[in-house]
Amino acid sequence: LSAEAERVLDEIEEKNVDFLRLQFTDILGTVKNVSVPADQAEKAFSEGIYFDGSSIEGFVRIQESDMRLKPDPETFATLPWRSGEDRASARLICDVINTSTGEPFEGDPRYVLKQAIERAEELGYEVNVAPEPEFFLFEEDEDGRATTKTGDAGGYFDLAPKDLASDVRRDIIYGLEEMGFEIEASHHEVAQGQHEINFEYDDVLSTADNVATFRTVVRAIAAQHDLHATFMPKPIPRINGSGMHTHMSLFEDGENAFHDEDDEFDLSGTAHSFLAGILEHAEALAAVTNPTVNSYKRLVPGYEAPVYVAWSDRNRSALIRKPAARVPGASRIEARFPDPSCNPYLAFAVLLNAGLDGIERDLDAPDPVRENIYEFDEQKRQEYGIETLPTNLGEAVDALEADEEILSALGPHIGEKFVEAKTAEFQDYLVDVSEWEIDRYLETF
Ligand code: GLN
Ligand code: MG
Ligand code: MG
Ligand code: MG
Repeated sequence: LSAEAERVLDEIEEKNVDFLRLQFTDILGTVKNVSVPADQAEKAFSEGIYFDGSSIEGFVRIQESDMRLKPDPETFATLPWRSGEDRASARLICDVINTSTGEPFEGDPRYVLKQAIERAEELGYEVNVAPEPEFFLFEEDEDGRATTKTGDAGGYFDLAPKDLASDVRRDIIYGLEEMGFEIEASHHEVAQGQHEINFEYDDVLSTADNVATFRTVVRAIAAQHDLHATFMPKPIPRINGSGMHTHMSLFEDGENAFHDEDDEFDLSGTAHSFLAGILEHAEALAAVTNPTVNSYKRLVPGYEAPVYVAWSDRNRSALIRKPAARVPGASRIEARFPDPSCNPYLAFAVLLNAGLDGIERDLDAPDPVRENIYEFDEQKRQEYGIETLPTNLGEAVDALEADEEILSALGPHIGEKFVEAKTAEFQDYLVDVSEWEIDRYLETF
């Protein structure tokens, strides 16, 4: 066993861990668990734990369903909401191995991200990412079902006593810290019942693991307070939805490769090309970074969510923003379109591939747009050459299918399954009749 695995075995002993949850995500980003007694840990590290992959969304065909989970010892953490004084439960995030070949399973989203990281490494880059996931806390009804009632009247950065949910948020933060998160800031967001907790940037793989963990922790601790936490992008119409702004930078030999103080925006040529790559592939990226029917209810003008394919060093209506660096050298770009319903492994993988494509092709970024693009009319947008994001999931999936670069970043297995699943989801939505239609038409016609 590796030294790291040995250390985890010791920690399991010390903390009286009796159950281990072995975790991975399916293609849609849902965290899956296989629970094993802690005495299986050594075996899990040496050989892996076998499971039937045919029951996992989009994983494999029945006849080739044997998979093996290989825990990554770096991801060991006890679960605060399942641990008491004398015993604990812990989780380990796993890579999925195909039993018949012994190779990484190409339907594993974590593997897709590792492939993207390899591409960056071949170009000499390390990748750092920090996300800003937003979410709503809603009340439950008498039967414990989620509602869309918030019971709080707070707004952006409001303080107690208005911010009734701040106790819950504090408990969430304690839970996250116990699991090893470094919390940078947390605040009430613009909408009623909406919150944001920011955690420190890390390498892109750790950050994807962290996003998956974050969603689990937030939901589990909210549930302890009889609240439902949701990462659905737009639960309430006509107010802000929830985004997951994603800050990215590349490092080369320990130095920030996005930083150039001689540039007007403090951005290097590498950064300009990276962001040009994201702008070029934006429509296809949306299928992965904004992967639900509901995602496109958020991407409309007027609610601080981007709609137009442009970048800016100032305004927040653009797809990509160059935030002011808090410390010199911390140059990065902020992709503002992703939302927290995405699979973080796949979302970061495609964003990274788009940016690297921009670097490899030495693309030039267009000029930043400093005006509020929400206020542009069609003609002015054309003058500026500004495209719009897809307006629904169907268009986004079409764009993905037409973009060889982004589709192939998902690999043949996930690419195919993802398009299949999302096409079916959109078709299902198209044949449905919504409450809006009933309200609008039932009595009119
Ligand atoms: N909630 C907004 C969104 O949908 C972002 C608001 C903010 O962080 N300033 O992206
Ligand atoms: Mg923020
Ligand atoms: Mg925010
Ligand atoms: Mg932000």
